[in-house]
Amino acid sequence: MKLKLLQVGEKVLREAARPLTREEILSDATQDLICSMQETLRDAPGVGLAAPQIGLPVQLAIIEDLPEYWRELSETDLATRERRAVPFHVIVNPRITHQSDDPIEFFEGCLSLAGFTASVCRSREVAVECLNEKGEARTIRASGWYARILQHEIDHLNGTLYVDRMDSRTFMSLENYKRYWKQSPKKAN
Ligand code: ZN
Repeated sequence: MKLKLLQVGEKVLREAARPLTREEILSDATQDLICSMQETLRDAPGVGLAAPQIGLPVQLAIIEDLPEYWRELSETDLATRERRAVPFHVIVNPRITHQSDDPIEFFEGCLSLAGFTASVCRSREVAVECLNEKGEARTIRASGWYARILQHEIDHLNGTLYVDRMDSRTFMSLENYKRYWKQSPKKAN
């Protein structure tokens, strides 16, 4: 079932989500939720979706990055972003345990701020401890675009949006980004 994507201004997007118990993760309700979130993310399409974005204040997010989303990106764009395919997976109760001290800036967007983008500084590498959809403990070590997606989704679970971290002078409509900035260096002025 496709779910409604909430837009910025909804209270739930600004609240810290609560952790899920192992029993809750394994429940039919949560397993159905994961399926519906996957359908919603692919339909959007997007590379990450956190439960608060569909109105649920729980610490669950899904991530999937597919080559079919990169059609408009050049080899150079892909290389500088270190963007590689990430298979569909679920993160529950995630915690960032390591962030590299080498922030890197790229334009990013969010399904809850439809039609806009901005340049955001994020760590190039992270380590995340979380549970998967079976309630099993996982440690994820990620770099490049995948590390950015993880930081963006985990921010959602803490009520933080990219607009809290962006270089505000680079905030723009996606239309204008495509018109003026797509071929330009990663940073607007
Ligand atoms: Zn988002």
